Amino acid sequence: MARQYCCDRCGGDWAGNARPVFYDNIWAAWGMQPHELLCDTCALNYAGGKYQLSQLVDCRWNQPWMTPSKRRKKRQQGQGTAGAR
Ligand SMILES: [Zn+2]
Repeated sequence: MARQYCCDRCGGDWAGNARPVFYDNIWAAWGMQPHELLCDTCALNYAGGKYQLSQLVDCRWNQPWMTPSKRRKKRQQGQGTAGAR
């Protein structure tokens, strides 16, 4: 019998919208319990709209999330305070 995986924040279907695996300290900083799940949408919210490589565990599961940003090489764009006020 397959277990149903749901996001613990929005209750959405987790299996169809899985998020990457984060380090425990990141998870804890977000107030999440180890057994809880977040869907990709909710996890992105917590991450501030974008995953940081430093937040993601280096494992095969995470490759889809890690590869694009790795390839992109962090171009330093003076992202100062524009729009942040
Ligand atoms: Zn969610």
